[in-house]
Amino acid sequence: MEKIDLIVSAPHFYTMTGNGVGYMADTAMAVDGGKIKAIAPAGEILKSYSAHHLIDGKDHLVLPGFIDGHMHMTDGLLRGLAQDTSNWMMHGIAPFQLKMDEQGAALGGELAVAEGMAAGTTTFGEFSNMNPALLKFMDKTGVRCQMTVKIREAEERIYDPGELYVFDQGLGQTTLNQCLDAHDHWQGAGNGRITILFGPQGPDFVSKQLLLKIRRLAMERNCRIHMHVQQGDRETAQMVNRYGQRPIAFLDQMGYLDAHLIAVHLTDAKESEAALVAKRGASMILCSGSIGIIDGIVPPAKAFQDAGGNVALGSDQAPGNNCHNIFNEMKLTALFNKILYQDPEVMPAWKVLRMATIEGAKALGLHEEIGTLEPGKQADFITINLATPSMAPVYTEPMRNMVPNLVYSARGNEVSTVVVNGQVLYENGHYHTLDLTKILERANLYAQQLGPRAADTFWKINGANAQLMRTHRL
Ligand SMILES: [Zn+2]
Repeated sequence: MEKIDLIVSAPHFYTMTGNGVGYMADTAMAVDGGKIKAIAPAGEILKSYSAHHLIDGKDHLVLPGFIDGHMHMTDGLLRGLAQDTSNWMMHGIAPFQLKMDEQGAALGGELAVAEGMAAGTTTFGEFSNMNPALLKFMDKTGVRCQMTVKIREAEERIYDPGELYVFDQGLGQTTLNQCLDAHDHWQGAGNGRITILFGPQGPDFVSKQLLLKIRRLAMERNCRIHMHVQQGDRETAQMVNRYGQRPIAFLDQMGYLDAHLIAVHLTDAKESEAALVAKRGASMILCSGSIGIIDGIVPPAKAFQDAGGNVALGSDQAPGNNCHNIFNEMKLTALFNKILYQDPEVMPAWKVLRMATIEGAKALGLHEEIGTLEPGKQADFITINLATPSMAPVYTEPMRNMVPNLVYSARGNEVSTVVVNGQVLYENGHYHTLDLTKILERANLYAQQLGPRAADTFWKINGANAQLMRTHRL
């Protein structure tokens, strides 16, 4: 009998292999050296292998860990400060964000990791300024991290509606250098758990010249570019005023739309524009909750998929959709699209579960390592407690109801175990690699200091939330 690190057994496995959800009953999975060694009927595995660590998933289902493809975890301390406003970026978040330092940003990231992990996220797709403290935290915590380092050339300040951004070449070069430096030092760190991508903030925030330079450097390093694309009428107006072209047409002409591009949001894209991005081979990240709250829009993910494109899910930021929870994103994605198309068969539960796992992995270029449970892949998986009010009762005949319940009913507290690279990070409400009490204490302390620092600008701008405060609505 072969000695290995870990065996997990359960009555239900959703491996996400094939074109559906890859269901297997009464199964066990053998894990060794951080990788999946075998997955087969439980009797077979238990006959062939012995492990010092056994996860007995009685009353549980097992599935790949969730992939949160696009997050701004460094805004984690700004939760609840920028909703219900029609000028989210400049009037909602900017007064607070501009007063946040690197330490606060890293702390927001710690809070986001704690939140996401407890709700089954194993891959965190962060998009932010280079933040070494946050990367060190992710490394230590054991999560998988795809870190996109933000490259920005537009001066960081509050712009009036319609005002063209002012480019600062020095800022562009500095942020590009930070990205290159991160790639040199962090790519493949943590036993391959950490990957670094190039992150021009958007075609409007970076000059044409710098966009071309970023693309050349990313190609040289065989690295993907993760960028906000057509993320609202604000971006479209910037591009039309500067270049006389809508963002997607502009990027297409530059040769930017191909398999190296991960396009986030497409909020203001027409269905035909989304289909063009998909046909050129780029992937999309859909942040249903965030774009719903910030813009009141359902992005054209269905058109993107219909054109053959892969779509990942992303929670974006705590001051946008207000949480880092992929259960929330799955439900909103299914629901919003049904409402948009007035068709309950659009975006079924199995489809959004694939977006949160294997299709998400494909979109991010991580499908060789994660996204399904099969031999040779990294052991990133979660177990879900079926003995919970939101998952009960369980049907297996004539249909299985667990996938619809995961998407429409579960909230995240059903997650019992979270494993990345074969290492148990979270178990029955306990974190093994982070101290939640300390994170919460520090987060609250920081918030008490940040609020007063942002107050002047907040009241001066007198945005929607300032008015809600003045009229005792908050
Ligand atoms: Zn974003």
